[in-house]
Amino acid sequence: MKDCIFCKIINGDFGTEFVYEDENAVVFKDINPKADIHLLVVPKEHVADLNECSDELAGKLISVVKKVTEKEGIKSYKTLINTGKAAGQEVFHLHIHILSGKIKI
Ligand code: AMP
Repeated sequence: MKDCIFCKIINGDFGTEFVYEDENAVVFKDINPKADIHLLVVPKEHVADLNECSDELAGKLISVVKKVTEKEGIKSYKTLINTGKAAGQEVFHLHIHILSGKIKI
């Protein structure tokens, strides 16, 4: 989607390094980490938030969380999905935060 920063990242516009990628999603480091490890799982399809996400895609994204944490050897972690501005969502392209180590939020 035009003007969506995460769509631009997925498109490779900023040369962002992906920690993990498959047909459904990419995973990259949060630019402003709130933990020793702070990753974002982002669907390739532009979905604004969890309210607009199909159950099928939600399941695929959880599967990506499991795959990337296993790949990176992250055994203990917190996941977070902000849904809506009032809840703290800043980027309106669905993403799952993965936080591990010393967590500041
Ligand atoms: P949220 O508040 O749940 O919408 O989280 C958005 C997250 O995206 C924040 O933690 C930001 O630090 C992160 N973020 C914004 N722009 C970028 C970017 N260009 N690359 C990586 N992370 C970003």
